[in-house]
Amino acid sequence: MDSDLDQLRQLARTFFEKEVTPHAERFAEQKQVDRELWRKAGELGLLCLSIPEEYGGGGGTFAHEAVLLEEQARAGDSSWGNSVHSGIVAHYLNSYGTEEQKRRWLPKLASGEYVGAIAMTEPGAGSDLQGIRTRAVKDGDEYVISGSKTFITNGALADLVIVAAKTDPAQGATGISLLVVDNDIRRGRVLDKVGMKGQDTAELFFDDVRVPAANLLGGQEGLGFVQLMQQLPQERLIIGVASIAGIEAAVDVTLRYVKERQAFGKELIKFQNTRFKLAECATEAAVTRAFIDECIEKHLRGELDVPTAAMAKWWASDRLSRVVDECVQLFGGYGYMTEYPIARAWSDARVQRIYGGTNEIMKEIIARSL
Ligand SMILES: Cc1cc2nc3c(=O)[nH]c(=O)nc-3n(C[C@H](O)[C@H](O)[C@H](O)COP(=O)(O)OP(=O)(O)OC[C@H]3O[C@@H](n4cnc5c(N)ncnc54)[C@H](O)[C@@H]3O)c2cc1C
Repeated sequence: MDSDLDQLRQLARTFFEKEVTPHAERFAEQKQVDRELWRKAGELGLLCLSIPEEYGGGGGTFAHEAVLLEEQARAGDSSWGNSVHSGIVAHYLNSYGTEEQKRRWLPKLASGEYVGAIAMTEPGAGSDLQGIRTRAVKDGDEYVISGSKTFITNGALADLVIVAAKTDPAQGATGISLLVVDNDIRRGRVLDKVGMKGQDTAELFFDDVRVPAANLLGGQEGLGFVQLMQQLPQERLIIGVASIAGIEAAVDVTLRYVKERQAFGKELIKFQNTRFKLAECATEAAVTRAFIDECIEKHLRGELDVPTAAMAKWWASDRLSRVVDECVQLFGGYGYMTEYPIARAWSDARVQRIYGGTNEIMKEIIARSL
């Protein structure tokens, strides 16, 4: 942390307090945030914090993204899909886009004029990305994209989608390319989820959508799989950061509750079981925090490798599920009521072990490196 990051933390905290928390119930009902929220975040300079200033971004580092993620977790918000928009989509464009592509799209993502999404998963292929069936066929100076995607974060509001498609179906990994679609996106349902109720997760359909050949990321076919693999460590670290911040928030809110709530004539904190459970949770938080902070530092130095990022993702998301479950228990029946933040944290936490690559896939990646 430094004074610049401290200031950002304050700005982010105020943003969540004013613009997000008061509207949480409505976001959940409409299964998405207001489109306007993205513009407000853009005006405040909260979008694309780690994208260079020349493309409209904040000119910061992953530390800036981490501060914003922590404040989002602290506010108990899971509706705003900025980690995908700023932490993932913008970085694909920044890393692989041509100069013209970066100038065309990044300022719009940074201002909130465009909402970004990335579409890899399909109804028939999630973990096994080589099995995707969406096709992109070259036709003159265009690509024609056909196929369907599901579980896409920001899918309903997205103006720009990075689509993983097969440019050569005869090949596995080397047949995959990433294309940017910023027109003609047909949306399916906004999906009903167990948690993260206010976050827009949608189906997308591509019915012979035509995009200029210049929308191929990296300018050469067959690079998609490698590009995905290169960006996944940051995506996984984002889940690690959100998870440790969620653990810390859960311990905080539970500590406050057990100091107030009484049973058998004394506060819950006075029961040895409560103290021992919270001692365990606080220890899990401290150990996880040390590891995630080390991963952030490594990432800032450009040294976070794929297996370590996989460790961060599985470890932190697994601890989050366990800690939040223990905390729910300490709230008793109130822990099961959605009006209580701990209940929402519990249902929001579950997916962290599933998306961004399941924790089983994380263990495969780690095991291969041993
Ligand atoms: C809320 C939400 C948001 C999402 N956002 C996005 C998004 O923005 N963009 C996007 O592209 N995708 C997104 N996803 C999709 C997500 O990344 C996938 O759901 C995930 O990768 C798992 O794929 P799957 O659902 O097809 O499960 P499957 O791949 O069918 O896996 C089912 C089970 O089999 C296990 N399994 C599979 N292969 C192996 C193996 N080799 N060894 C051991 N076990 C294995 C898995 O671990 C899992 O337990 C999102 C999902 C959710 C729920």
